[in-house]
Amino acid sequence: MNGEYQRLMIFCDFDGTISQNDVLNKIFSKFGGPEVQKLEEKFKSGELDDRETLTRKWKKVKLDYQKFRDFIIREVKLDPYFKDFLELVSEKNIDFSILSGGFLNYIELLLAHNNITRGIPIYGNRLQFDGERVTPVFLHDIDSCHQSFGVCGSCKWKIIKDQAPEQKKVIYIGDGLTDRCPAEEVDELLVKRGKLLEEYCQKQGLNYHSFDDFSDIIKYVFKDKV
Ligand SMILES: [Mg+2]
Ligand SMILES: [Zn+2]
Repeated sequence: MNGEYQRLMIFCDFDGTISQNDVLNKIFSKFGGPEVQKLEEKFKSGELDDRETLTRKWKKVKLDYQKFRDFIIREVKLDPYFKDFLELVSEKNIDFSILSGGFLNYIELLLAHNNITRGIPIYGNRLQFDGERVTPVFLHDIDSCHQSFGVCGSCKWKIIKDQAPEQKKVIYIGDGLTDRCPAEEVDELLVKRGKLLEEYCQKQGLNYHSFDDFSDIIKYVFKDKV
């Protein structure tokens, strides 16, 4: 059984998957003004790609670092079973990484705030704060994505391709639009019930397993152990 765990690589989205709410949506609806929703609609319809949408949204935001930090710590909770999941992952020595289409600034803050200090590889974009101006610094360059959605700021498919050797069994866990990019490329796909990624998988006829929170993910990954 341990051999089987050794072959596993688990990649997991952050916003709305590890965090209970989508952190970026929360920030943009609080600090972004009315234009931001229109940009989101254009992203959903495919008129704008991920990178362009994020660039334009952050231009609408006025937020200094202290306010950002306070807001994140006050407003965002993690999935109540995420820590249990991490313990099992650690016990079984499973390769686990966080792949975010969002920003390392709040992911690192939230993990530290929840006393998660184990070194987890985290891939994502970064924010630069300059007074109340916030500028995204993207993980990947233009044209790095293979998919038809345009350019990802942080391309999850590219990260998985770079990190996972052929013989590994890759599980991907996610909920949203930036998870479409790796969805078709992985061995097993875990999708949050009732969210946009599920809608997409149904439209595309992709195989997936749905979950409500990490207690379902624990049961799925560690079937015969829990
Ligand atoms: Mg998400
Ligand atoms: Zn991509």
